[in-house]
Amino acid sequence: MKSRATPAPRTHDEYLATLAADKRATLAKLRKAIAAAAPGAEECISNGIPAYRHEGRSIAEFALKPKRVAAKKRGAASRAVTLLLAVALAATTLGAQSSATPSGSGGHNDPHHVAAPTIVLLSLDGFRYDYLDRYPGPNFARLLAHGVRADGLIPAFPSKTFPNHFTIVTGLEPQHHGLVANRFYDPARNASYGMSDSLAVRDGTWYHGEPVWVTAERQGMVAASYFWPGSEADIGGVRPSRVKAYDGKVPNAERVDTLLAWLALPADTRPHFLTLYFSTTDDGGHRGGPESAEAAEAVRTVDVSIGRLLDGLERANVGAGGIELIVVADHGMAAYTPAQYVALDTVIDLQDVRVADGGPNANIHVGGGRDRATLLRDSINRRMEHGRAYLREDVPEALHYRDDSRIGDLVVVMALPWQVGLARSAPRSAGGTHGWDPANREMQGVFVSWRPDAAGPARIGTVRNVDIARYITDRLGLAPAPTTDGVPGRLAQQLKDARR
Ligand SMILES: [Zn+2]
Repeated sequence: MKSRATPAPRTHDEYLATLAADKRATLAKLRKAIAAAAPGAEECISNGIPAYRHEGRSIAEFALKPKRVAAKKRGAASRAVTLLLAVALAATTLGAQSSATPSGSGGHNDPHHVAAPTIVLLSLDGFRYDYLDRYPGPNFARLLAHGVRADGLIPAFPSKTFPNHFTIVTGLEPQHHGLVANRFYDPARNASYGMSDSLAVRDGTWYHGEPVWVTAERQGMVAASYFWPGSEADIGGVRPSRVKAYDGKVPNAERVDTLLAWLALPADTRPHFLTLYFSTTDDGGHRGGPESAEAAEAVRTVDVSIGRLLDGLERANVGAGGIELIVVADHGMAAYTPAQYVALDTVIDLQDVRVADGGPNANIHVGGGRDRATLLRDSINRRMEHGRAYLREDVPEALHYRDDSRIGDLVVVMALPWQVGLARSAPRSAGGTHGWDPANREMQGVFVSWRPDAAGPARIGTVRNVDIARYITDRLGLAPAPTTDGVPGRLAQQLKDARR
Protein backbone atom coordinates (compact mmCIF):
# COMPACT_ATOMS: atom_id res chain seq x y z
CA MET A 1 0.00 0.00 0.00
CA LYS A 2 1.33 3.47 -0.82
CA SER A 3 2.14 5.72 2.08
CA ARG A 4 -0.42 8.31 3.03
CA ALA A 5 -0.43 11.28 5.35
CA THR A 6 -2.33 9.17 7.88
CA PRO A 7 -0.49 5.87 8.12
CA ALA A 8 -2.67 2.78 8.12
CA PRO A 9 -3.08 1.30 11.59
CA ARG A 10 -0.81 -1.72 12.00
CA THR A 11 -2.70 -3.73 14.58
CA HIS A 12 -6.32 -4.27 15.35
CA ASP A 13 -6.01 -2.36 18.62
CA GLU A 14 -4.37 0.53 16.84
CA TYR A 15 -7.18 0.45 14.30
CA LEU A 16 -9.81 0.57 17.03
CA ALA A 17 -7.99 3.45 18.70
CA THR A 18 -7.98 5.38 15.40
CA LEU A 19 -11.69 4.85 15.02
CA ALA A 20 -12.39 6.02 18.55
CA ALA A 21 -10.29 9.16 18.04
CA ASP A 22 -12.05 9.95 14.75
CA LYS A 23 -15.41 9.52 16.40
CA ARG A 24 -14.53 11.82 19.30
CA ALA A 25 -13.32 14.55 16.93
CA THR A 26 -16.44 14.24 14.80
CA LEU A 27 -18.75 14.41 17.80
CA ALA A 28 -17.01 17.53 19.05
CA LYS A 29 -17.57 19.21 15.67
CA LEU A 30 -21.19 18.11 15.58
CA ARG A 31 -21.87 19.47 19.07
CA LYS A 32 -20.25 22.80 18.21
CA ALA A 33 -22.31 23.18 15.04
CA ILE A 34 -25.56 22.27 16.80
CA ALA A 35 -24.81 24.72 19.61
CA ALA A 36 -24.30 27.50 17.05
CA ALA A 37 -27.39 26.68 14.98
CA ALA A 38 -29.81 25.77 17.75
CA PRO A 39 -28.71 27.25 21.07
CA GLY A 40 -30.26 25.40 23.97
CA ALA A 41 -30.82 22.17 22.06
CA GLU A 42 -30.59 19.22 24.41
CA GLU A 43 -28.63 16.15 23.54
CA CYS A 44 -29.76 12.60 23.92
CA ILE A 45 -28.03 9.50 22.60
CA SER A 46 -29.88 7.22 20.23
CA ASN A 47 -28.15 4.03 19.09
CA GLY A 48 -24.84 5.59 20.06
CA ILE A 49 -25.57 8.57 17.83
CA PRO A 50 -26.31 11.95 19.38
CA ALA A 51 -29.76 13.29 18.67
CA TYR A 52 -31.09 16.69 19.69
CA ARG A 53 -34.33 18.15 20.86
CA HIS A 54 -35.03 21.85 20.63
CA GLU A 55 -38.01 23.56 22.23
CA GLY A 56 -39.74 20.22 22.60
CA ARG A 57 -39.24 19.12 19.00
CA SER A 58 -36.62 16.79 17.71
CA ILE A 59 -34.18 18.14 15.18
CA ALA A 60 -35.41 15.93 12.45
CA GLU A 61 -33.23 16.80 9.56
CA PHE A 62 -29.82 18.09 8.97
CA ALA A 63 -27.61 18.12 5.99
CA LEU A 64 -23.97 17.27 6.16
CA LYS A 65 -21.80 18.92 3.57
CA PRO A 66 -18.49 17.25 2.90
CA LYS A 67 -15.64 19.65 2.44
CA ARG A 68 -12.10 18.70 1.65
CA VAL A 69 -9.71 20.19 4.15
CA ALA A 70 -6.48 18.35 3.72
CA ALA A 71 -4.18 19.08 0.84
CA LYS A 72 -5.17 17.07 -2.21
CA LYS A 73 -3.49 13.73 -2.14
CA ARG A 74 -2.72 11.67 -5.20
CA GLY A 75 -5.82 9.63 -5.93
CA ALA A 76 -6.82 9.60 -2.34
CA ALA A 77 -10.50 9.67 -1.99
CA SER A 78 -10.92 10.81 1.44
CA ARG A 79 -10.82 10.57 5.00
CA ALA A 80 -10.05 14.19 4.43
CA VAL A 81 -13.57 15.12 4.95
CA THR A 82 -14.65 17.66 7.43
CA LEU A 83 -18.16 18.39 8.17
CA LEU A 84 -20.06 21.55 7.95
CA LEU A 85 -23.43 21.26 9.41
CA ALA A 86 -26.51 23.04 8.34
CA VAL A 87 -29.21 22.39 10.83
CA ALA A 88 -32.82 22.72 9.91
CA LEU A 89 -35.51 22.31 12.50
CA ALA A 90 -38.52 20.27 11.56
CA ALA A 91 -41.15 22.89 11.23
CA THR A 92 -44.23 20.78 10.88
CA THR A 93 -45.33 17.23 11.52
CA LEU A 94 -44.80 16.63 7.83
CA GLY A 95 -41.07 16.94 8.29
CA ALA A 96 -39.70 20.02 6.66
CA GLN A 97 -37.60 19.71 3.59
CA SER A 98 -34.17 20.95 4.29
CA SER A 99 -33.18 23.55 1.74
CA ALA A 100 -29.79 21.86 1.60
CA THR A 101 -31.34 18.54 0.57
CA PRO A 102 -30.61 17.81 -3.05
CA SER A 103 -33.51 16.27 -4.91
CA GLY A 104 -33.99 15.44 -8.55
CA SER A 105 -37.71 16.26 -8.65
CA GLY A 106 -37.48 19.46 -6.65
CA GLY A 107 -40.41 18.10 -4.64
CA HIS A 108 -42.87 18.20 -7.55
CA ASN A 109 -44.17 15.44 -9.78
CA ASP A 110 -43.87 15.86 -13.52
CA PRO A 111 -47.46 16.01 -14.80
CA HIS A 112 -47.11 12.69 -16.64
CA HIS A 113 -46.47 10.87 -13.33
CA VAL A 114 -49.65 12.02 -11.64
CA ALA A 115 -51.60 8.93 -12.79
CA ALA A 116 -48.82 6.53 -11.76
CA PRO A 117 -49.43 4.08 -8.91
CA THR A 118 -48.22 4.75 -5.38
CA ILE A 119 -45.96 2.18 -3.76
CA VAL A 120 -45.26 1.96 -0.05
CA LEU A 121 -42.29 -0.28 0.74
CA LEU A 122 -42.41 -1.36 4.39
CA SER A 123 -39.50 -3.19 5.99
CA LEU A 124 -40.08 -5.25 9.12
CA ASP A 125 -36.51 -5.82 10.25
CA GLY A 126 -35.78 -9.48 11.00
CA PHE A 127 -39.41 -10.61 10.46
CA ARG A 128 -38.85 -14.27 9.65
CA TYR A 129 -40.90 -15.92 6.89
CA ASP A 130 -42.88 -18.06 9.37
CA TYR A 131 -43.81 -15.37 11.93
CA LEU A 132 -47.18 -14.82 10.21
CA ASP A 133 -48.12 -18.42 11.08
CA ARG A 134 -46.26 -18.67 14.37
CA TYR A 135 -47.63 -15.41 15.77
CA PRO A 136 -50.86 -14.65 13.90
CA GLY A 137 -52.62 -11.32 14.48
CA PRO A 138 -55.84 -9.65 13.38
CA ASN A 139 -54.11 -7.03 11.25
CA PHE A 140 -51.87 -9.57 9.55
CA ALA A 141 -55.12 -11.34 8.66
CA ARG A 142 -56.39 -8.09 7.08
CA LEU A 143 -53.14 -7.79 5.16
CA LEU A 144 -53.32 -11.36 3.84
CA ALA A 145 -57.01 -11.05 2.95
CA HIS A 146 -56.01 -8.72 0.11
CA GLY A 147 -52.46 -9.88 -0.25
CA VAL A 148 -50.15 -12.18 -2.12
CA ARG A 149 -47.79 -13.84 0.31
CA ALA A 150 -44.53 -15.53 -0.63
CA ASP A 151 -43.28 -18.70 1.03
CA GLY A 152 -40.20 -16.66 1.92
CA LEU A 153 -38.06 -13.74 0.81
CA ILE A 154 -34.52 -14.89 0.04
CA PRO A 155 -31.96 -12.32 1.19
CA ALA A 156 -28.54 -11.64 -0.25
CA PHE A 157 -25.39 -12.79 1.55
CA PRO A 158 -24.58 -11.78 4.24
CA SER A 159 -28.14 -11.88 5.63
CA LYS A 160 -27.59 -8.61 7.49
CA THR A 161 -29.58 -5.40 7.76
CA PHE A 162 -27.67 -2.78 5.77
CA PRO A 163 -26.53 -5.03 2.91
CA ASN A 164 -30.06 -6.34 2.38
CA HIS A 165 -31.97 -3.10 2.70
CA PHE A 166 -29.72 -1.67 0.03
CA THR A 167 -30.10 -4.77 -2.14
CA ILE A 168 -33.88 -4.43 -1.93
CA VAL A 169 -33.84 -0.84 -3.25
CA THR A 170 -31.04 -1.25 -5.82
CA GLY A 171 -31.56 -4.80 -7.14
CA LEU A 172 -27.81 -5.35 -6.70
CA GLU A 173 -25.93 -7.92 -4.66
CA PRO A 174 -23.83 -6.42 -1.84
CA GLN A 175 -20.66 -7.13 -3.86
CA HIS A 176 -21.97 -4.60 -6.41
CA HIS A 177 -23.68 -1.94 -4.27
CA GLY A 178 -20.84 -1.49 -1.82
CA LEU A 179 -22.50 -2.26 1.54
CA VAL A 180 -20.81 -5.64 1.92
CA ALA A 181 -21.58 -5.82 5.67
CA ASN A 182 -23.08 -3.69 8.44
CA ARG A 183 -19.54 -2.55 9.11
CA PHE A 184 -16.58 -2.94 6.82
CA TYR A 185 -13.16 -1.57 5.96
CA ASP A 186 -12.34 -0.22 2.50
CA PRO A 187 -8.63 -0.69 1.76
CA ALA A 188 -8.76 1.69 -1.22
CA ARG A 189 -10.02 4.54 0.97
CA ASN A 190 -8.24 3.36 4.10
CA ALA A 191 -11.48 4.11 5.90
CA SER A 192 -14.32 2.25 7.55
CA TYR A 193 -18.09 2.32 7.22
CA GLY A 194 -20.38 1.34 10.08
CA MET A 195 -24.16 1.42 10.28
CA SER A 196 -24.00 3.33 13.59
CA ASP A 197 -21.54 5.89 12.24
CA SER A 198 -23.91 8.66 11.20
CA LEU A 199 -21.25 10.50 9.22
CA ALA A 200 -20.36 7.50 7.08
CA VAL A 201 -24.03 6.61 6.66
CA ARG A 202 -24.73 10.11 5.27
CA ASP A 203 -21.73 10.12 2.94
CA GLY A 204 -23.02 9.19 -0.52
CA THR A 205 -19.58 8.22 -1.79
CA TRP A 206 -19.84 4.90 0.09
CA TYR A 207 -22.81 3.74 -1.98
CA HIS A 208 -22.81 2.26 -5.49
CA GLY A 209 -25.84 1.55 -7.61
CA GLU A 210 -29.08 3.45 -7.89
CA PRO A 211 -31.76 3.14 -5.21
CA VAL A 212 -35.37 3.34 -6.39
CA TRP A 213 -35.82 6.79 -4.85
CA VAL A 214 -32.96 8.11 -6.99
CA THR A 215 -34.43 6.50 -10.13
CA ALA A 216 -37.77 8.15 -9.32
CA GLU A 217 -36.46 11.58 -8.36
CA ARG A 218 -34.20 11.78 -11.43
CA GLN A 219 -37.24 11.20 -13.63
CA GLY A 220 -39.30 13.86 -11.91
CA MET A 221 -41.26 11.65 -9.53
CA VAL A 222 -41.42 12.54 -5.84
CA ALA A 223 -40.05 9.95 -3.41
CA ALA A 224 -40.12 9.98 0.38
CA SER A 225 -38.43 7.90 3.05
CA TYR A 226 -39.35 7.41 6.68
CA PHE A 227 -36.09 5.57 7.34
CA TRP A 228 -34.13 3.27 5.04
CA PRO A 229 -30.43 2.56 4.98
CA GLY A 230 -28.86 4.90 2.42
CA SER A 231 -31.78 7.34 2.31
CA GLU A 232 -29.92 10.00 4.29
CA ALA A 233 -27.02 10.05 1.86
CA ASP A 234 -26.70 12.17 -1.21
CA ILE A 235 -26.31 9.39 -3.80
CA GLY A 236 -25.28 10.72 -7.19
CA GLY A 237 -26.48 14.15 -6.08
CA VAL A 238 -29.98 12.96 -5.18
CA ARG A 239 -31.93 12.23 -2.02
CA PRO A 240 -35.64 11.57 -1.53
CA SER A 241 -37.64 14.83 -1.49
CA ARG A 242 -38.69 13.96 2.04
CA VAL A 243 -36.32 12.09 4.31
CA LYS A 244 -35.81 11.54 8.03
CA ALA A 245 -32.57 11.27 9.95
CA TYR A 246 -32.62 7.86 11.63
CA ASP A 247 -33.89 7.93 15.20
CA GLY A 248 -34.81 4.53 16.60
CA LYS A 249 -36.80 6.17 19.41
CA VAL A 250 -39.56 7.50 17.14
CA PRO A 251 -42.59 5.27 17.81
CA ASN A 252 -43.93 3.23 14.88
CA ALA A 253 -47.26 5.08 15.17
CA GLU A 254 -45.56 8.43 14.54
CA ARG A 255 -43.76 6.99 11.51
CA VAL A 256 -47.07 5.68 10.12
CA ASP A 257 -48.93 8.94 10.75
CA THR A 258 -46.26 11.00 9.02
CA LEU A 259 -46.25 8.68 6.01
CA LEU A 260 -50.04 8.93 5.81
CA ALA A 261 -49.78 12.73 5.99
CA TRP A 262 -47.37 12.62 3.04
CA LEU A 263 -49.98 10.60 1.12
CA ALA A 264 -52.57 13.30 1.81
CA LEU A 265 -50.52 15.99 0.06
CA PRO A 266 -51.81 17.48 -3.22
CA ALA A 267 -51.09 15.40 -6.33
CA ASP A 268 -48.32 17.77 -7.38
CA THR A 269 -46.19 17.06 -4.32
CA ARG A 270 -47.55 13.68 -3.14
CA PRO A 271 -44.83 11.04 -3.22
CA HIS A 272 -45.36 7.96 -5.42
CA PHE A 273 -42.62 5.91 -3.82
CA LEU A 274 -42.35 5.78 -0.03
CA THR A 275 -40.31 3.71 2.37
CA LEU A 276 -41.14 2.89 5.97
CA TYR A 277 -39.13 0.89 8.50
CA PHE A 278 -39.84 -0.81 11.85
CA SER A 279 -36.95 -2.35 13.80
CA THR A 280 -39.26 -3.94 16.41
CA THR A 281 -39.04 -7.58 15.35
CA ASP A 282 -35.25 -7.51 14.91
CA ASP A 283 -34.86 -6.17 18.44
CA GLY A 284 -37.19 -8.85 19.88
CA GLY A 285 -35.57 -11.67 17.89
CA HIS A 286 -32.05 -10.67 18.95
CA ARG A 287 -33.03 -10.58 22.62
CA GLY A 288 -34.59 -13.99 22.92
CA GLY A 289 -34.36 -15.76 19.59
CA PRO A 290 -37.15 -16.29 17.06
CA GLU A 291 -39.19 -18.58 19.30
CA SER A 292 -39.06 -16.44 22.44
CA ALA A 293 -41.67 -14.43 24.29
CA GLU A 294 -39.74 -11.31 23.23
CA ALA A 295 -40.11 -12.21 19.56
CA ALA A 296 -43.82 -12.96 20.04
CA GLU A 297 -44.36 -9.62 21.77
CA ALA A 298 -42.48 -7.76 19.03
CA VAL A 299 -44.64 -9.35 16.34
CA ARG A 300 -47.78 -8.38 18.27
CA THR A 301 -46.55 -4.78 18.39
CA VAL A 302 -45.96 -4.81 14.63
CA ASP A 303 -49.45 -6.22 14.05
CA VAL A 304 -50.87 -3.12 15.76
CA SER A 305 -48.68 -0.81 13.66
CA ILE A 306 -49.78 -2.59 10.47
CA GLY A 307 -53.41 -2.06 11.53
CA ARG A 308 -52.80 1.68 11.83
CA LEU A 309 -51.12 1.71 8.43
CA LEU A 310 -53.89 -0.28 6.70
CA ASP A 311 -56.58 1.97 8.22
CA GLY A 312 -54.84 4.92 6.57
CA LEU A 313 -54.01 3.24 3.26
CA GLU A 314 -57.61 2.04 2.83
CA ARG A 315 -58.77 5.64 3.14
CA ALA A 316 -55.93 7.24 1.18
CA ASN A 317 -56.95 9.07 -1.96
CA VAL A 318 -53.99 8.61 -4.24
CA GLY A 319 -55.71 8.91 -7.58
CA ALA A 320 -56.26 6.60 -10.50
CA GLY A 321 -52.98 4.68 -10.16
CA GLY A 322 -54.05 3.09 -6.88
CA ILE A 323 -51.83 1.99 -4.06
CA GLU A 324 -49.69 -1.07 -3.34
CA LEU A 325 -48.08 -1.94 -0.04
CA ILE A 326 -45.07 -4.22 -0.26
CA VAL A 327 -44.07 -5.72 3.06
CA VAL A 328 -40.55 -7.12 3.18
CA ALA A 329 -37.95 -8.22 5.70
CA ASP A 330 -34.23 -7.83 5.24
CA HIS A 331 -33.55 -11.29 6.72
CA GLY A 332 -34.85 -13.90 9.14
CA MET A 333 -33.54 -14.94 12.56
CA ALA A 334 -32.04 -18.01 14.23
CA ALA A 335 -31.21 -18.90 17.82
CA TYR A 336 -27.60 -19.30 19.00
CA THR A 337 -25.80 -20.10 22.23
CA PRO A 338 -22.55 -18.55 23.50
CA ALA A 339 -20.84 -21.95 23.32
CA GLN A 340 -21.22 -21.98 19.53
CA TYR A 341 -18.55 -19.33 18.99
CA VAL A 342 -15.03 -19.52 17.61
CA ALA A 343 -12.63 -16.84 18.89
CA LEU A 344 -10.24 -16.07 16.04
CA ASP A 345 -7.58 -14.98 18.54
CA THR A 346 -7.29 -18.62 19.60
CA VAL A 347 -6.97 -19.86 16.03
CA ILE A 348 -4.59 -17.47 14.26
CA ASP A 349 -1.98 -14.82 15.02
CA LEU A 350 -3.75 -11.48 14.61
CA GLN A 351 -0.60 -9.45 13.94
CA ASP A 352 -1.32 -7.31 10.84
CA VAL A 353 -4.81 -8.74 10.64
CA ARG A 354 -7.95 -6.64 10.70
CA VAL A 355 -11.23 -8.35 11.56
CA ALA A 356 -13.67 -5.81 10.11
CA ASP A 357 -16.81 -7.68 11.12
CA GLY A 358 -17.66 -10.92 12.86
CA GLY A 359 -20.73 -13.00 13.70
CA PRO A 360 -22.16 -15.67 11.39
CA ASN A 361 -19.32 -14.71 9.06
CA ALA A 362 -16.15 -12.65 9.29
CA ASN A 363 -14.44 -10.23 6.92
CA ILE A 364 -10.69 -10.28 7.42
CA HIS A 365 -8.07 -7.98 5.90
CA VAL A 366 -4.59 -9.43 5.98
CA GLY A 367 -1.33 -7.52 5.86
CA GLY A 368 1.41 -9.39 4.01
CA GLY A 369 -0.29 -10.24 0.77
CA ARG A 370 -1.82 -13.32 -0.72
CA ASP A 371 0.72 -15.76 0.69
CA ARG A 372 -0.01 -14.77 4.27
CA ALA A 373 -3.76 -14.82 3.55
CA THR A 374 -3.44 -18.34 2.19
CA LEU A 375 -1.48 -19.41 5.29
CA LEU A 376 -4.10 -17.96 7.60
CA ARG A 377 -6.89 -19.55 5.61
CA ASP A 378 -5.24 -22.94 6.03
CA SER A 379 -4.63 -22.40 9.75
CA ILE A 380 -8.28 -21.52 10.27
CA ASN A 381 -9.52 -24.45 8.22
CA ARG A 382 -7.26 -26.91 10.03
CA ARG A 383 -8.61 -25.85 13.41
CA MET A 384 -12.24 -25.07 12.71
CA GLU A 385 -15.02 -27.62 12.40
CA HIS A 386 -18.16 -25.56 11.93
CA GLY A 387 -17.15 -23.10 9.29
CA ARG A 388 -14.73 -22.46 6.51
CA ALA A 389 -12.32 -19.70 5.51
CA TYR A 390 -12.00 -18.70 1.85
CA LEU A 391 -9.77 -16.36 -0.08
CA ARG A 392 -12.15 -13.74 -1.41
CA GLU A 393 -11.86 -15.00 -4.99
CA ASP A 394 -12.79 -18.54 -3.85
CA VAL A 395 -15.96 -17.69 -1.90
CA PRO A 396 -18.68 -20.10 -3.15
CA GLU A 397 -20.29 -18.68 -6.25
CA ALA A 398 -23.82 -18.99 -4.86
CA LEU A 399 -23.01 -16.35 -2.24
CA HIS A 400 -22.17 -13.70 -4.90
CA TYR A 401 -19.50 -12.33 -2.60
CA ARG A 402 -16.21 -11.76 -4.42
CA ASP A 403 -16.19 -8.55 -6.43
CA ASP A 404 -15.32 -5.86 -3.88
CA SER A 405 -12.09 -5.46 -1.90
CA ARG A 406 -14.24 -4.22 1.01
CA ILE A 407 -15.15 -7.89 1.53
CA GLY A 408 -11.61 -8.53 2.77
CA ASP A 409 -8.82 -10.91 1.80
CA LEU A 410 -10.40 -13.75 3.75
CA VAL A 411 -14.03 -14.53 4.41
CA VAL A 412 -15.00 -17.00 7.14
CA VAL A 413 -18.44 -18.47 6.54
CA MET A 414 -19.91 -20.30 9.54
CA ALA A 415 -22.52 -23.03 9.58
CA LEU A 416 -25.74 -21.97 11.34
CA PRO A 417 -25.86 -21.46 14.36
CA TRP A 418 -22.08 -21.04 14.77
CA GLN A 419 -20.38 -17.64 14.96
CA VAL A 420 -16.84 -16.35 14.67
CA GLY A 421 -15.01 -13.19 15.74
CA LEU A 422 -12.64 -11.73 18.28
CA ALA A 423 -12.67 -13.20 21.78
CA ARG A 424 -13.83 -9.90 23.26
CA SER A 425 -16.89 -9.83 20.97
CA ALA A 426 -18.09 -13.27 22.05
CA PRO A 427 -21.74 -13.36 23.13
CA ARG A 428 -22.27 -13.79 26.86
CA SER A 429 -25.77 -15.21 26.69
CA ALA A 430 -28.04 -16.98 24.23
CA GLY A 431 -30.16 -15.01 21.79
CA GLY A 432 -31.00 -14.70 18.13
CA THR A 433 -29.09 -13.39 15.17
CA HIS A 434 -28.70 -13.57 11.39
CA GLY A 435 -26.04 -13.26 8.72
CA TRP A 436 -25.73 -16.90 7.66
CA ASP A 437 -25.98 -18.27 4.14
CA PRO A 438 -29.41 -17.33 2.71
CA ALA A 439 -29.84 -20.98 1.71
CA ASN A 440 -30.74 -21.60 5.37
CA ARG A 441 -34.52 -21.35 5.58
CA GLU A 442 -34.21 -19.51 8.95
CA MET A 443 -32.58 -16.57 7.14
CA GLN A 444 -35.61 -15.96 4.90
CA GLY A 445 -37.91 -13.05 5.58
CA VAL A 446 -41.54 -12.17 4.99
CA PHE A 447 -42.89 -10.88 1.67
CA VAL A 448 -46.48 -9.70 1.09
CA SER A 449 -47.86 -7.54 -1.70
CA TRP A 450 -51.14 -5.88 -0.69
CA ARG A 451 -53.63 -3.83 -2.70
CA PRO A 452 -56.87 -2.65 -1.10
CA ASP A 453 -59.04 -3.96 -3.93
CA ALA A 454 -57.16 -7.19 -4.67
CA ALA A 455 -58.79 -10.55 -4.15
CA GLY A 456 -56.86 -12.67 -1.70
CA PRO A 457 -55.40 -14.44 0.03
CA ALA A 458 -52.96 -15.74 -2.56
CA ARG A 459 -49.68 -17.54 -2.26
CA ILE A 460 -46.49 -17.72 -4.32
CA GLY A 461 -43.19 -19.57 -3.87
CA THR A 462 -40.04 -17.92 -2.64
CA VAL A 463 -39.09 -14.46 -3.92
CA ARG A 464 -35.53 -13.19 -4.34
CA ASN A 465 -34.94 -9.75 -2.89
CA VAL A 466 -32.77 -8.69 -5.86
CA ASP A 467 -35.97 -8.71 -7.98
CA ILE A 468 -37.86 -6.12 -5.93
CA ALA A 469 -36.26 -2.86 -7.13
CA ARG A 470 -36.92 -3.59 -10.79
CA TYR A 471 -40.50 -4.66 -10.00
CA ILE A 472 -41.12 -1.29 -8.33
CA THR A 473 -39.60 0.89 -11.05
CA ASP A 474 -41.53 -1.06 -13.72
CA ARG A 475 -44.79 -0.60 -11.76
CA LEU A 476 -44.10 3.12 -11.42
CA GLY A 477 -43.53 3.45 -15.16
CA LEU A 478 -39.92 4.56 -14.75
CA ALA A 479 -36.92 3.75 -16.90
CA PRO A 480 -35.07 1.22 -14.72
CA ALA A 481 -31.66 1.63 -13.12
CA PRO A 482 -28.90 0.71 -15.58
CA THR A 483 -27.98 -2.63 -14.01
CA THR A 484 -29.63 -5.30 -11.89
CA ASP A 485 -28.60 -8.62 -10.37
CA GLY A 486 -32.23 -9.69 -10.39
CA VAL A 487 -34.28 -11.04 -13.27
CA PRO A 488 -36.43 -8.30 -14.83
CA GLY A 489 -40.10 -9.26 -14.85
CA ARG A 490 -39.73 -12.36 -12.66
CA LEU A 491 -41.47 -10.98 -9.56
CA ALA A 492 -44.18 -9.30 -11.67
CA GLN A 493 -44.88 -12.68 -13.29
CA GLN A 494 -45.02 -14.45 -9.92
CA LEU A 495 -47.56 -11.92 -8.63
CA LYS A 496 -49.58 -11.98 -11.84
CA ASP A 497 -49.84 -15.76 -11.78
CA ALA A 498 -51.04 -15.63 -8.17
CA ARG A 499 -53.67 -12.98 -8.86
CA ARG A 500 -55.01 -14.70 -11.95
ZN1 LIG B 1 -30.48 -7.68 13.41
